[in-house]
Amino acid sequence: MRLLRSTDLALRLLMRLAATPDPNPTTRDVAAAMDVPYTHAAKVVAELQHMGLLTARRGRGGGLALTEKGRTASVGELVRTFEGEGDVVDCEGTATTAACPLSPACRLRGALRQAQEAFYASLDPLTIADLTTDPTGPLLLTISKRP
Ligand code: SF4
Repeated sequence: MRLLRSTDLALRLLMRLAATPDPNPTTRDVAAAMDVPYTHAAKVVAELQHMGLLTARRGRGGGLALTEKGRTASVGELVRTFEGEGDVVDCEGTATTAACPLSPACRLRGALRQAQEAFYASLDPLTIADLTTDPTGPLLLTISKRP
């Protein structure tokens, strides 16, 4: 199972804010530190702000700050939200592809759903703060100081 880039970026962004003592880095700062396009980072920041996991203030003294809700957010919940409810395999087809003929009664589909839920469930107890303990936290500090 491969995560969307936006899911990974959301996790990295929150980890970066949780680990670093920098007061209020900007979206541009974190995009540069994580080596991702500014527009992609800005889109993810907007989504995380909408979820109440960070605040983003413009202007002098502004910037990004992790909320308490963001610090204690469940990694599993966050991954579910960003990945959506879809199956790991496209059984129902799309506008340009037909549905799989087995989809009404496929045991594989059920097994894959169970595996997907087990994947999320294994991430549920983890919080963003948990992801920034040693050795990740100190490494995040190093990365955030890159020009
Ligand atoms: S075989 Fe089953 S899991 Fe695979 S696409 Fe068809 S319905 Fe989905």
